[in-house]
Amino acid sequence: MSKAHFGLIGLGVMGENLVLNAERSGFSSVVYNRTYSKTEDFLKRSATGRNIQGASDLQDFVNKLERPRRILMMIKAGPAIDAVIKQISPYLEEGDLLIDGGNSQFLDTERRVKELESQSFGYIGMGVSGGAKGALEGPSMMPGGTKASYEAIESLLEKMAAQVEDGPCVTYIGPGGSGHFVKTVHNGIEYGIEQILSEAYDLMSRVGGMNCSQMADVLSHWNSTEELSSYLVEITEACLRTKDPESGRDIVELIMDKAGQKGTGLWTVVSALELGAPVPTIYASLNGRVMSSIKDQRLEAESILPAPIPEPFDMGCLDDGMHLLMDAVVLSCIASYAQGMELLRIGSLEYNYQLKMPAIAQIWKGGCIIRSRLLKRIQDAYESNPQLANLFIDPWFSAQVEARISGLAHIVAGAAKSGIPVPCFSSTLDYINSYRTGRLPQNLVQAMRDCFGSHTYERVDKEGSFHTEWID
Ligand code: NAP
Repeated sequence: MSKAHFGLIGLGVMGENLVLNAERSGFSSVVYNRTYSKTEDFLKRSATGRNIQGASDLQDFVNKLERPRRILMMIKAGPAIDAVIKQISPYLEEGDLLIDGGNSQFLDTERRVKELESQSFGYIGMGVSGGAKGALEGPSMMPGGTKASYEAIESLLEKMAAQVEDGPCVTYIGPGGSGHFVKTVHNGIEYGIEQILSEAYDLMSRVGGMNCSQMADVLSHWNSTEELSSYLVEITEACLRTKDPESGRDIVELIMDKAGQKGTGLWTVVSALELGAPVPTIYASLNGRVMSSIKDQRLEAESILPAPIPEPFDMGCLDDGMHLLMDAVVLSCIASYAQGMELLRIGSLEYNYQLKMPAIAQIWKGGCIIRSRLLKRIQDAYESNPQLANLFIDPWFSAQVEARISGLAHIVAGAAKSGIPVPCFSSTLDYINSYRTGRLPQNLVQAMRDCFGSHTYERVDKEGSFHTEWID
């Protein structure tokens, strides 16, 4: 059998679908999985009749690949990646290229790029988004590492990626761990939008008394608008329409209200805190998941700290797509993207990644979980002003604030009176209000800090650093 063009390690749901995609794109493949029975099963089940062969050990795997070898690892992030690198390195030769397509911590990738490149192997840390379907039909991919390593797999990735009107959803992101940094932030934005849609669902259900089918109709309307047309809105409608096959009830209502938050969402917030980038909407979504996970405590507190009975308030009506609620959803989704892009901009400066914001918006327009029509506006905003400090000051986005901020404020106020938590909506309102306030009250914070700790302060009326004796 002739040598294969492409090798895949890790036959989880993503690996299986990516290798089928690579083969369909014209790249004969060889697969290896730690547990060999999975390889056998895959070869019998999905790879029959395709140009895909299996390998029972890593030496066999490497021998079946043409040189220079192009190997994608699609395995659990963390120590498993280091373990596989260690196991495979003795069989690799100069010029071979390893790609980590999992959700690795970007600083781990930074280290691995340095270590592997110093041994004359190429190493790419590549974020992949799109879930199982995207992996098969065309994901969005965010590869980082040296430009030369990227060029060695560019044609493969361009054929495998989702395609949008202005090209494939893959581009060279930048050096080091930049690809995984961008994927991390992508997932942070994803956390935000998921929580925003869940808050809208909660209000429609508890304040509006709407059933899942009515809410799905609203989501369907939102998905037809430029501001909200997106994959996440589309699947939210599908979730709300799905019935439990056993009971015939809406399946969403039968799902336990606890969501996990390890990994990329957490890393987004940790990075933002370290870099001094404000991401309150994204942070609120992470915290929403943390609060959801303390279910037992919440059940106990429900009787000790009873919340008010939700009072109906105007959120719009079914016929106008709940226009006031839509205002809150639109501005909060924009805030999620704006904060993510701002984190990318600040991270790019700190790590010298030289990220190209229009190109990142472009590759997120298809294939990935946060794909949306809004990304075209985001791409346009950064194309017309590559130095844009914040999306909200772009003319199209500032017009959205003007048109929708009173709707958002009205929804936050109504939810507050009804005792319904809307962490992303309220954080977004505070974020926009803080951002558009030239003078914030941190002058008083500075006074207190100087009072108890002689930290000094700057003044608005003269240059320099000042200290006051505040208490006799
Ligand atoms: P997964 O469940 O995260 O990982 C399963 C694969 O990892 C299996 O092939 C498993 O081999 C292998 N593995 C685990 N520990 C290993 C070790 N110590 N040495 C060698 N192999 C090891 O699979 P996945 O969902 O397809 O995800 C793969 C990667 O893509 C992850 O980093 C994930 O976070 C990321 N990702 C996932 C999605 C998604 O929608 N699922 C989307 C984007 C990115 P065995 O069969 O032998 O256990």
